[in-house]
Amino acid sequence: MSLSDLEKERYFKQLSVRDWNQERLKSAKVLIVGIGGLGSASALYFTAAGVGKLRLCDEDKVERSNLNRQVLYFEESIGKIKVEEAKKRLAALNPNVEIEAVSESIGSQNADELTKGCDIIVDGLDSIESRFLLNEQSVKMQIPYVYGAVQGWQGYVSLFHPPHTACLACILPKEAQTPDTIPIPGVLPGVIGIIQATEALKFIMGVEKTLAGSLLIYDSQHLTFDIVEIEKNPSCTYCAP
Ligand SMILES: [Zn+2]
Repeated sequence: MSLSDLEKERYFKQLSVRDWNQERLKSAKVLIVGIGGLGSASALYFTAAGVGKLRLCDEDKVERSNLNRQVLYFEESIGKIKVEEAKKRLAALNPNVEIEAVSESIGSQNADELTKGCDIIVDGLDSIESRFLLNEQSVKMQIPYVYGAVQGWQGYVSLFHPPHTACLACILPKEAQTPDTIPIPGVLPGVIGIIQATEALKFIMGVEKTLAGSLLIYDSQHLTFDIVEIEKNPSCTYCAP
């Protein structure tokens, strides 16, 4: 896919980055499930970076308590459908990106349809049950899954790509429960969402070093980044052969 003169002008600063492949980004389709704090940050940067297609999936409406971290929305967005508000803002940022808004939550009934044709799945969820569903879909369709999560001062990112790497279920017990209220300082999902976008862009462009096979743990209180290796669980009920 070739770039127009206007696209060359828009992406001028990144085109000369080593290993950057703008044409490949332009031909890619990214699915973001959950357009909250994580998804707002990643969606903004996928759009600015110039991925070809972005599919946004979320069934929620904007609430006032979202506005400390969900930077796609404003006071006037309260009560409106998230994916439609998000699409409006993102389209204004970069008209070259084809944005599809799906006002649904992911479930077993629509997971195939949502993930079909996507090159990568990006997690913007806040529920462990939905994450396991995304994980299952990633394993089944062999689509890489960029996991991201925040709680308190800590954030986590990984890139699962079974059968090449472990999957989410290899490291998280199936009995894990979503807490009723997750404390989140507003800045943290911004950092984690942008790292997820970075990993997804690198994967799409074929940049060699990614978080595949590792888990990044960011502690924003003590300002530390740790990367731990994660191994496949040979008896994982999701990804073991
Ligand atoms: Zn697994």
